Amino acid sequence: MLDKRQFYINGTWCDPVAGQDMEVIDPSREEPCAVISLGGKADTDMAVAAAKVALPGWLHSDPAERLALIERILAEYEARAEDMAQAISMEMGAPIDMSRNSQVTAGSWHIRNFIKAFGHIRFIEPLGAHAPDDRIIREGVGVCALITPWNWPMNQVSLKVIPALLAGCTMVLKPSEIAPLSSVIWSEIMDAAGTPKGVYNMVNGDGPGVGTQLSGHPDVDMVSFTGSTRAGIAISKNAAETLKRVHLELGGKGANLIFADADEKAIKRGVIHCFGNSGQSCNAPTRMLVERSLYEQAVETARELAEATAVGPASESGRHIGPVVSAAQFDKIQDLIQKGMDEGARLVAGGLGRPEGLNRGYFVRPTVFADVTNDMTIAREEIFGPVLSILPFESEEEAVAIANDTVYGLTNYVQSQDGARRNRLARQLRSGMVEMNGHSRGAGSPFGGMKRSGNGREGGVWGIEDFLEVKAVSGWASEAE
Ligand code: NAD
Repeated sequence: MLDKRQFYINGTWCDPVAGQDMEVIDPSREEPCAVISLGGKADTDMAVAAAKVALPGWLHSDPAERLALIERILAEYEARAEDMAQAISMEMGAPIDMSRNSQVTAGSWHIRNFIKAFGHIRFIEPLGAHAPDDRIIREGVGVCALITPWNWPMNQVSLKVIPALLAGCTMVLKPSEIAPLSSVIWSEIMDAAGTPKGVYNMVNGDGPGVGTQLSGHPDVDMVSFTGSTRAGIAISKNAAETLKRVHLELGGKGANLIFADADEKAIKRGVIHCFGNSGQSCNAPTRMLVERSLYEQAVETARELAEATAVGPASESGRHIGPVVSAAQFDKIQDLIQKGMDEGARLVAGGLGRPEGLNRGYFVRPTVFADVTNDMTIAREEIFGPVLSILPFESEEEAVAIANDTVYGLTNYVQSQDGARRNRLARQLRSGMVEMNGHSRGAGSPFGGMKRSGNGREGGVWGIEDFLEVKAVSGWASEAE
């Protein structure tokens, strides 16, 4: 079993001061694969203190120096790609090919896009010709606490650490205690890339411990959090006392509006997207809204696809989906499937229990419910498993009303050949992102939500700006520039 109990603080690996052992469980085998330490207040304080001491130097460093560091991080990240793929696959159950080709590459994709976006950040610029001695300066917010979830570990970590570094912030990363191994490798990468000491620190811990200590810490200026809406609310409340900036990326309940004139692959695309990563994506299109004339055909196609979706261990090569991450997630998903049946949805594929032949591991049957109404629990709550709900609609207005009738607002999807309709719907849907006809958003496009899906934007120029303060200066001596 791997021993990964150390933390990375002030440029060195150190033993916990107030740590408690916790086993990391391999969800394919339901067996421990590593031991980490959950830090305590003394560990959190040490990491924050290191970040605070390092702040002035990094905040006022040459942006070119920061960019050079990110380029070195990218090179180290690519050199460790296979280690990273194995760690993610083991800790959270992503099948190894998917881990290599999606989980790991999500990180390098974001790093590359930040390198491009950085060229567009103006750290100093004139206010305008009417005020020649005014300048607008942008500088890092300060010491940041970065708190991340387990479902796309390197996607989330890179979306926070890289822009924070580019902005001139120093930081403490607290990765998910359920999937901490990839962040240990990430910290080795940061070390190998020559990150100045104290600029980047990592402490493992849980929400009630290190998470809460960070969000309430008087020397932390900003919390950037990705995770559940429940924890986002707790963090906001705890951070309010010190009026920190709080950046939130939370849950979702995406609607996929499929019109009768959709392209022929639209239903298939929606089902595959919903089941991807075993349904553990905040932007998964979990509510499939289908125009009545296409409805029964959509239900039949979804049933066939669900029954053809292979489920298996993360270590096996192939295009199957893996287990869900933990016993708690497995139980929660089973409860929600039961609720779907109890509340009168029509179960057309999957259901309770493990798929045939899998007696161990947190494997869930790819499940499809039809005749779902938007007031049912399975249409309202984020399930975070391979469970699709299909709802019929009669008109465009009704589809928009159903899609927007949720507390979430992360990503909605539209499938239609009618361009005018697509553009109309892109405006009407209340979500931070709208993806249409299977076109994924381009490099540098901001990821983030509205309503209870959060308030931050990650990726590209917006992702860097979220870590910057705007400083207004008058009386600037242009002759001394
Ligand atoms: P979680 O909220 O349980 O945990 C996320 C992180 O927050 C972990 O590091 C955890 O230790 C920490 N945490 C938990 N309670 C805390 C508290 N009170 N104070 C401080 N930190 C606390 O979420 P999870 O189960 O790890 O991840 C799944 C959730 O993340 C889903 O709801 C999913 O939709 C969401 N998510 C959102 C996005 C996005 O960008 N919008 C991306 C990925 C995942």
